[in-house]
Amino acid sequence: MQEKGTLASLSPYVPGKPIADVQAEYGLEKVVKLASNENPFGSSKQVQTALAEALTSLEYYPDGGAKALKKAIANFHQISEEKIVVGSGLDDVIQIISRATLSVGDEIIVADPTFSQYELHATVEGATVIKVPVDSKTGQMDLAGMLAAITSKTKIIWLCNPNNPTGTYLPQSVIQNFVAQVPSDILVISDEAYQEYVTIEEISTSLPLLADYPNLIVLRTFSKAYGLAALRIGYAILSEQFKRPFEIVRLPFNTSTLAQVGAISALADQAFIQKTVSTNASEREKWEGFLTQAEVDYYLSQANFVFFETKQDSKKLAEKLMQAGYIVRAGLRDQWLRVTIGYPEDNQKLRDILTTIW
Ligand SMILES: *Cc1c(COP(=O)(O)O)cnc(C)c1O
Repeated sequence: MQEKGTLASLSPYVPGKPIADVQAEYGLEKVVKLASNENPFGSSKQVQTALAEALTSLEYYPDGGAKALKKAIANFHQISEEKIVVGSGLDDVIQIISRATLSVGDEIIVADPTFSQYELHATVEGATVIKVPVDSKTGQMDLAGMLAAITSKTKIIWLCNPNNPTGTYLPQSVIQNFVAQVPSDILVISDEAYQEYVTIEEISTSLPLLADYPNLIVLRTFSKAYGLAALRIGYAILSEQFKRPFEIVRLPFNTSTLAQVGAISALADQAFIQKTVSTNASEREKWEGFLTQAEVDYYLSQANFVFFETKQDSKKLAEKLMQAGYIVRAGLRDQWLRVTIGYPEDNQKLRDILTTIW
């Protein structure tokens, strides 16, 4: 076998250690996973009831068109169902978009650092990834720099708002001003995986811009605030006239019945989301107070994680925290850690530990 040439520079994804493995390896009773921005409160209880009912008809293929889910999403956002493409998590949606639009020699523009999957799929398709560093002081995406990086080969500009891992958020007026300056044949994708967590601005989604800028695509997921990462379900909202290529490359049954049923049920329980978001916001403040006092650099987060500088090698620090039962994410930037905001008690314990070992 000869592998596809574009894969030469890539390596398989290394997932974080599962809780059970860390428990066994370090002989720990309790292990808290704060490495993948999952919801510490789980998911809506209503989801479990809906899933239990769906378990009685596993012999049928799912609805490949996810009709009922699209209807619920359309109703929730007050948009047409025709604007929605559903995927097996946003990872799938990012792959679908890349596969349908990118060819050898094309370029994409991303922030650095940002979510790794934009780069991965572009590279697989043979496209070149242009990285525009975030502002090192604020962690904000450098939109002027991204505009300046546009060439005749640019196909996609990936925005992540709030950005993973910096946690920073750009107001919608700023996003609008940016999209207005991008040539209309270039896709601007706003990955809003953490949109629910934004509290600084009332309307924190780029969705309303879609009417004026058909080259915009907005991405949302049920993995983060909705707490359904295990089910693998997310979606894109885009202009109807651009749906065709994505529906062609999308696998016919890319989302499971359980994922669709779970998502519909989760969407209906907005009280769960409100509780999640308000607890997260007050815990985020405590983290930022702690980091300010510790005199380490960090970025203002509007997401469910904090990204900060460490006083020693961050991989070694992460290893020490793992021994203490806390799984966090190192390796995204030298000397920096990304920590998911968890239960209030766990956050406090983790801060106490950090005070003694960092
Ligand atoms: C977690 C994450 C995703 C992927 O989420 P899934 O829907 O679980 O595939 C996409 N984008 C960003 C920015 C994320 O942090």
